[in-house]
Amino acid sequence: MRSVILAASRSSRVERLVETAPYTRDVVRRFVAGTTTDDALRATRELVGSGLAVTIDHLGEDTVTPEQATAVREEYLTLLTVLAGADLTPAAEVSVKLSALGQKFDEKLAYDNVRAICTAAAAAGTTVTLDMEDHTTTDSTLDMLARLRKDFPSTGAVLQAYLRRTESDCRELATAGSRVRLCKGAYKEPESVAYQSARDVDKSYVRCLNILLSGAGYPMLATHDPRLIAIGQDRARWFDRSPDEFEFQMLYGIRPEEQTRLAGEGHTVRTYLPYGSDWYGYLMRRLAERPANLVFFARALLSRS
Ligand SMILES: Cc1cc2nc3c(=O)[nH]c(=O)nc-3n(C[C@H](O)[C@H](O)[C@H](O)COP(=O)(O)OP(=O)(O)OC[C@H]3O[C@@H](n4cnc5c(N)ncnc54)[C@H](O)[C@@H]3O)c2cc1C
Repeated sequence: MRSVILAASRSSRVERLVETAPYTRDVVRRFVAGTTTDDALRATRELVGSGLAVTIDHLGEDTVTPEQATAVREEYLTLLTVLAGADLTPAAEVSVKLSALGQKFDEKLAYDNVRAICTAAAAAGTTVTLDMEDHTTTDSTLDMLARLRKDFPSTGAVLQAYLRRTESDCRELATAGSRVRLCKGAYKEPESVAYQSARDVDKSYVRCLNILLSGAGYPMLATHDPRLIAIGQDRARWFDRSPDEFEFQMLYGIRPEEQTRLAGEGHTVRTYLPYGSDWYGYLMRRLAERPANLVFFARALLSRS
């Protein structure tokens, strides 16, 4: 089922069908703050008010023209100005997909764009985390991260536990000041590069969190999985990590009570908050993760009202 949904996430025919279905809006609203900068600002204010930190993602990926990539950069620059003006930094930072900034067709353009966003984030008193996309982009993304961190040392990376290479990447990145978000991984990847069973991915996640929590960097444990969260808490105690030395991260709309519960226990918890009109790929990855969400989805597709 997961493979079918992830394949559909690349189909423009299914995309049109989903976008025009009457109840789609209800499904989207659960996972996405809205379409405008104001929507992102409103949701950020609410989350920060309830004791959560936030990372904001302007939705969109795989741009194909320089003009599209520049428009994405400009959107982030506006967002950062607005966040600073509303006194929401440093509680809110931003997450960026390099493919939205041109990585797939012009790496130099993507680098110039992300560098401009890092410069604006620093001026706004916050920072940037580079999302990780499919495995063909991992080397390029880690290479840009290394270059950015020379001038913007707090720039964060994402590592995906499903990739066989990730334990080694964790060792490389578990250095002083290095912010690393560890997630399971959301793309359809071949056996040659990625563990295929949930059990193997979970085991890899635990090995990776041990490396990060025992290292000198700042680990960001991004998962909704109750077992992995409990292991993360246990290992953080074992490695003597105080609440300001690591954090948990979860997606907007997923296990919100757990997010506030952990924050209430004194943990730093950051909500990943997407906004924008280009929500299709993001929504499909969320549906692929949890077949129960397909009930809402099926209603949206089948409704004739
Ligand atoms: C902050 C953050 C940033 C991320 N950034 C990236 C990235 O840059 N690149 C990337 O490849 N992936 C990213 N991901 C996605 C990640 O890789 C996983 O696909 C996603 O988090 C689901 O895995 P899980 O660890 O929650 O465990 P799962 O095994 O998928 O889920 C565990 C439990 O969490 C709950 N749950 C999980 N997903 C859902 C859902 N969609 N709806 C409702 N309940 C759910 C359920 O209770 C489920 O039993 C990110 C995730 C987070 C939280």
